[in-house]
Amino acid sequence: MERTLAIVKPDAFAAGHAGRILARIYQEGFNVVGMKKLFLSEKQAAGFYHVHESKPFFDDLKGFMSSGPCLVMVLESDGAIRKWRDLMGATNPSDAGAGTLRKEFGTSLGRNAVHGSDAPETAAFEVGYFFSGLELL
Ligand code: ATP
Ligand code: MG
Repeated sequence: MERTLAIVKPDAFAAGHAGRILARIYQEGFNVVGMKKLFLSEKQAAGFYHVHESKPFFDDLKGFMSSGPCLVMVLESDGAIRKWRDLMGATNPSDAGAGTLRKEFGTSLGRNAVHGSDAPETAAFEVGYFFSGLELL
């Protein structure tokens, strides 16, 4: 079994889509082993997305991710990282395939409804950023 870090981002959370996104997560067969609602500070959002620090969109990304509450989850399944990325769809909702979460709930490249870890090393960092071992028993 593999674990990945998933976030219902502030745009989708504010729009009331967290319930429908969670329903899809269960339908697709993930175990939800950790879940918390958080309202990140700019500093906390910056730390989470530190790999993008030097990118021109970093300030927007940091501002957006700290603009309202989000729902942070640890999902578990066989091949969870790839499987959750596939369910999310492409980064830009306009490129995302039919039936993906970003197609359904994303509204722009910067407001794309959900996050998912992109590799085992990033999943390990991201899960540990938000959850302690005791919260994932
Ligand atoms: P995420 O990490 O949020 O799951 P991703 O892995 O699909 O998304 P990344 O390349 O990690 O994409 O980019 C992180 C986020 O930064 C994206 O979700 C998107 O909202 C934003 N982003 C990425 N590229 C651009 C860009 N060229 N212009 C503006 N925002 C961007
Ligand atoms: Mg990413």
